[in-house]
Amino acid sequence: MRIVIAGAGIGGLATALSLEAAGFRDIRIFERADRIRGLGVGINLLPHAVRELTELGLADRIAALGVAPATLAYANRFGQRIWSEPRGLAAGYRWPQLSVHRGRLQLALLDAVRERLGEIVHLGHRLVGVDDGDGTATARFATSSGDVDVEADVLVGADGIHSALRAIRYPDDGDPVWSGLTLWRGTAVIAPFLDGRTMVMAGDGDQKFVAYPLEEPGADGRQRVNFIAERRGTGSPDADWNRAVDPAPIVELFRDWRYDWLDVPGTIAAAEEILEYPMVDRDALPRWSVGRTTLLGDAAHAMYPNGSNGGSQAILDARTLAYHLATAPSVDAALDAYDEARRPATARLLEMTRQTGPEQVMLLARERAPHGFDRIDDVIPQAELERIAADYKAAAGFHPDALNARSSLTVALEPR
Ligand SMILES: Cc1cc2nc3c(=O)[nH]c(=O)nc-3n(C[C@H](O)[C@H](O)[C@H](O)COP(=O)(O)OP(=O)(O)OC[C@H]3O[C@@H](n4cnc5c(N)ncnc54)[C@H](O)[C@@H]3O)c2cc1C
Repeated sequence: MRIVIAGAGIGGLATALSLEAAGFRDIRIFERADRIRGLGVGINLLPHAVRELTELGLADRIAALGVAPATLAYANRFGQRIWSEPRGLAAGYRWPQLSVHRGRLQLALLDAVRERLGEIVHLGHRLVGVDDGDGTATARFATSSGDVDVEADVLVGADGIHSALRAIRYPDDGDPVWSGLTLWRGTAVIAPFLDGRTMVMAGDGDQKFVAYPLEEPGADGRQRVNFIAERRGTGSPDADWNRAVDPAPIVELFRDWRYDWLDVPGTIAAAEEILEYPMVDRDALPRWSVGRTTLLGDAAHAMYPNGSNGGSQAILDARTLAYHLATAPSVDAALDAYDEARRPATARLLEMTRQTGPEQVMLLARERAPHGFDRIDDVIPQAELERIAADYKAAAGFHPDALNARSSLTVALEPR
């Protein structure tokens, strides 16, 4: 079976690795960029995605890239703790959560693709068109030396939030939908905060600061952390992940956010680089699989980063698609089964991230105690906090009991 993937991001590379593990060999990836530079800052891989990478035999090399956070803590803008919960192995999962640099993860997946499948990544190829045939799809790629047509039995659009395949299938889809929030993402090397293994979120729906360690502390005892500073009412909905900006005005916005456990303005001021982008997502689609093409990752379901699910859901898509292509009675049945398995699940998740997902506790704390509190129990009862956290995990498919019990997506088949 000839499988063509547009996009060598985390979703596209994970798809190639998943297909290889399911016995497919005729796989090619076409990537718009001339070089894979491993851009971005931190990304979280939740236990459900780490499970899939583990079953692909990549656990050790991915674990070596980052840090496994043991706790997730939510605080208000005064730094008062609202809720905290164990993460990964500490929460009873059989697989850890991992915080890694997105670019390092992408390059590690690329290395694995090259080792297992050879030079299947074709750079400088931008998907611009599709011709639907009878049981085939012919992809048209623009290159520096003209257009190239590539016929496939399956074409996977893993080409990100500005997906060309999605635009071809849904010409009226328009631009990504902006939440009105602007995000500044960066990394900084600072003294470890709390136990050096905690991901923290402080603030509320108008202004927020998220930080988590990305590496183990170095010889000088300092640690590289990833941070996201977020504010409503500034910026514009122009989705560019890679615009570097001056930290000074952002430091000023967070001037008063100095806690005895974390110096927020000091962390922003210490940034190695700050990238600005608007918090955008896309509406859920009625269908991903059309003819012999389907969508995957951000192309299918770009969602807000709250809940830390973008990369993880792309990896789940990849494994699910490979599973159905290997086990369904026909290619068309496989593309249908993949669509049915993943589209409603990610649509529910998208809806939850729009309602701020598990961060709802921060909004409730602000609404009920805008000037802070003495005891969180007086503001949000423990049972309500627990319910919000559990509901999100169940919707996101990573409740520990469900994930630990779910059967594997690994298929053992002969090469085809
Ligand atoms: C440069 C960049 C930086 C990012 N930084 C972060 C970050 O710091 N933190 C975070 O949580 N998430 C980040 N993300 C998003 C995150 O990687 C995705 O949400 C998630 O991993 C889903 O991956 P994906 O493969 O679906 O999409 P993406 O990772 O966006 O990958 C899509 C790929 O398709 C390629 N492409 C686009 N259009 C075409 C086309 N027409 N033809 C062929 N190829 C095409 C792109 O160049 C890209 O390599 C970043 C994405 C990008 C592209």
